[in-house]
Amino acid sequence: MRTVSQTIDHPTQQQSGSAVVDFASVSKIYEGETDKVWALRDVSLRVGAGEFLAFVGKSGCGKSTLLNLAGAMDFPTSGEVHIDGVSTRGLSDSTLTKLRRDRIGFIFQSFQLLHTLSVEENVQLPLLLAGAANTKLRVADALQSVELQDLAHRMPHQLSGGQMQRVAIARAMVLRPKLLLADEPTGNLDTSTGQSVMQLLRRLCDSTQTTILMATHSLESAEITDAVIRMRDGQIDDVVRS
Ligand code: ADP
Repeated sequence: MRTVSQTIDHPTQQQSGSAVVDFASVSKIYEGETDKVWALRDVSLRVGAGEFLAFVGKSGCGKSTLLNLAGAMDFPTSGEVHIDGVSTRGLSDSTLTKLRRDRIGFIFQSFQLLHTLSVEENVQLPLLLAGAANTKLRVADALQSVELQDLAHRMPHQLSGGQMQRVAIARAMVLRPKLLLADEPTGNLDTSTGQSVMQLLRRLCDSTQTTILMATHSLESAEITDAVIRMRDGQIDDVVRS
């Protein structure tokens, strides 16, 4: 079992460079018309390469906010978020786009495939947007890694939910990101399909050393990870290592 360090103090600059995800005293406050919502409250967390963490807790406890900040889709009100050594604060739009595209993959409960594109075209899209070469070979590799090489020409509506999530995983991994963010990836799947998707994520994490942060309601899905991080009221309440 690899280490997961939840730090209370700000880590040193040198340590910051070695973590794939580094939250240092991160708070996120949403300002309503009459009140403030503390979506995250002074969260410090360092996650290394190849670690697979599950974030669990009641709806509204801050799981999605944490993933959004880790994905540089949103920014802290205070504190610092570093992704692969890069602070997400104050980056230009083009640098942010590149950071997300090159270093971070996303998968969602609803798969979010493009329904007018075939399986292989969905997986090819990030490569085209990044101007990558050898796209055919890389798409074939990515589809093989999720065991869907035989379904490359199908359209999304011709797939089962589990197959759709595998396509989404191939698309998220095709640019070989350092970090994969998974928001309820088994939420639309039956238990056994969900478990096979989790086993696939575990294998990919181990074979590619991709760091995976997953928000989930499913304790069964969380079982396969390196640590379950229980959140409450925007804070890390408990870390249970496998
Ligand atoms: P979870 O993913 O665990 O359900 P969230 O991170 O979505 O929790 O939400 C944490 C808290 O922040 C909740 O109280 C939620 O209502 C609030 N929140 C999330 N996004 C916004 C927003 N854009 N504006 C205002 N409040 C928000």
